[in-house]
Amino acid sequence: MIIVMSTTATKQQIDKVVEEIEALGFKPHLIHGEDREVIACIGHENRKIDLLDLQVFEGVEAVVPISKPYKLASSETKRKPTVIPISEGVQVGGDFLCVMAGPCSVESREQLLETAQAVKAGGGHVLRGGAFKPRTSPYDFQGLGEEGLKLLAEAREQTGLPVITEVLDPHDVELVERYSDILQVGARNVQNFALLNELGKTRKPVFLKRGMSTTIREWLLSAEYIMKGGNPQVMLCERGIRTFETATRNTLDLNAVPVLRGETHLPIAVDPSHGTGHWQYVIPMAMAGVAAGADALMIEVHPHPELALSDGGQSLTPKRFNELMAHLRPLAQVMGRRL
Ligand code: PEP
Ligand code: MN
Repeated sequence: MIIVMSTTATKQQIDKVVEEIEALGFKPHLIHGEDREVIACIGHENRKIDLLDLQVFEGVEAVVPISKPYKLASSETKRKPTVIPISEGVQVGGDFLCVMAGPCSVESREQLLETAQAVKAGGGHVLRGGAFKPRTSPYDFQGLGEEGLKLLAEAREQTGLPVITEVLDPHDVELVERYSDILQVGARNVQNFALLNELGKTRKPVFLKRGMSTTIREWLLSAEYIMKGGNPQVMLCERGIRTFETATRNTLDLNAVPVLRGETHLPIAVDPSHGTGHWQYVIPMAMAGVAAGADALMIEVHPHPELALSDGGQSLTPKRFNELMAHLRPLAQVMGRRL
């Protein structure tokens, strides 16, 4: 259920409704709309009938049932698309097209700083780079850990680019949020509920990647975990799903973009690097993602892909990243977006 307050509701009236919601055993979540407050009530489905009584409270305009299982993420609860501010002049959502780019893994100071400068020069807005890497094989490079986080912070200092990096372990959330502007949840952790609960407690935006076999409904319920915990700043990233096709690493499910646009107010990103697994397909699928309506792109860039410790085959060189940006400029304009 959501309680829609009238545009003229006073603070006292809102407080009284909140009190009553709590007394009925529900958890109220205040959503600040442009001209009114909306209060989402989280609690037992079979007790929601009690909430209808709130209709008679002063300042209440309507008590509306929410049919979706993801209450806070649903566009039924909040129609206006959410815009997440990242840094001065950079946001995810609205009329902005945010390009996040950088190496799959932070490998060394030289590699990261060189890539960061290239991303900055090419017109990227956010620097990506993994310090804790979720690798299929335990024998593969696992990332530099905190040392990698420090290098990301140094690259931000040098370039002014905000940074995004993955947090793998719920125990590392505090550590990673000390260094990173955005916390990434990787495909393999989309249903790590302990991690999602921990991320609900942070005040940093969360970039939630789709799992390789996660339905859109399951993915939105994962977003709901973070939001229910008190963190409304969640963005969703389509990064490809597993299908029978082997010509590409994953199948980039661009259907997800318009489906999500209808289902949720949360911003939507597309990652054509993991979505295709081949640098040759990254530019066309990045453009397709933007044409489908994505608010952000995540692109892997490496100055020497042949030497990369992870995902070299899908990484763009700085020169190819510049080409991507040149392709995106006129497209962004057609889509009514600032790049
Ligand atoms: C990554 O962004 O480097 C990554 C590991 O992505 P995913 O979780 O989508 O596989
Ligand atoms: Mn990668």
